[in-house]
Amino acid sequence: MKSAQTTPEKPKIAFFDFTSCEGCQLNKLNLENELLDILQHVELVEFREAMDGKADFYDIAFIEGSLSTPTCINRIHDIRRRSNILVALGACASIGGINSMKNLQPIETVRETVYGDEKYRFPTLPAMPVSAVVKVDYEIRGCPMSIPEFLHVLKALLMGKTPSKPDAAVCVECKLRENECLYDRGIVCLGPITLGGCEAICPSFGQFCTGCRGLVPNPNKNAMVDILTQNGLSLEEARKRFLLFNSYNAEGKSIT
Ligand code: SF4
Ligand code: SF4
Ligand code: SF4
Repeated sequence: MKSAQTTPEKPKIAFFDFTSCEGCQLNKLNLENELLDILQHVELVEFREAMDGKADFYDIAFIEGSLSTPTCINRIHDIRRRSNILVALGACASIGGINSMKNLQPIETVRETVYGDEKYRFPTLPAMPVSAVVKVDYEIRGCPMSIPEFLHVLKALLMGKTPSKPDAAVCVECKLRENECLYDRGIVCLGPITLGGCEAICPSFGQFCTGCRGLVPNPNKNAMVDILTQNGLSLEEARKRFLLFNSYNAEGKSIT
């Protein structure tokens, strides 16, 4: 595995935002109980939302947001070159997320809708996860990213260990929490095909899973669509539900 650089100095960590709502970064500033402890073990060298400052090298670079402009592409290559470990934070960075819904429209339509007559002044690309352009070492999924998972990954990297990765569906975690399945209450949920790691937080509070952590490996999408439509959604509604976070995955469009 790659581990944080072992030097007498504290590991240098940095946070960068790309196309995003910045909710994942704000989430970190909510780590009141852990923030001071974390800062004793790292040197925070770049974090636009919280400080001024620049550095030439990062032991760990955390990236929020998807890539959606030519400037994003150049910038992520530059950050990758200067980073030992690169971690994608949240749905936008790790799977494209909500931004990727724009990919379902022709790019010209998107540009006209957003910029009108000024569309040629603002170059834009289909939204991409960071891994579409550079190597990503670890991903922390979710919209916003999961704080416990962020702490788990950060602690593991600082100790030179490989962070474990969730690989089971949200349903597995939901069952472990002994939740009543929302389908039994007539509420449809994407838990069966969504990658866990969030402790099924939404169903645990009575909310259906919207799929913000992306798909499990080898999801049975057709079976999922059958379940959604057998439980009251039209095919179009099922498609929209599915594509909310998974539009970057071109195969997702096949459920139309
Ligand atoms: S993953 Fe969600 S919370 Fe995080 S930046 Fe994207 S839209 Fe915002
Ligand atoms: S509520 Fe959702 S996540 Fe929980 S078991 Fe049912 S389908 Fe799965
Ligand atoms: S339950 Fe689904 S929508 Fe909620 S955080 Fe987990 S993956 Fe995201």
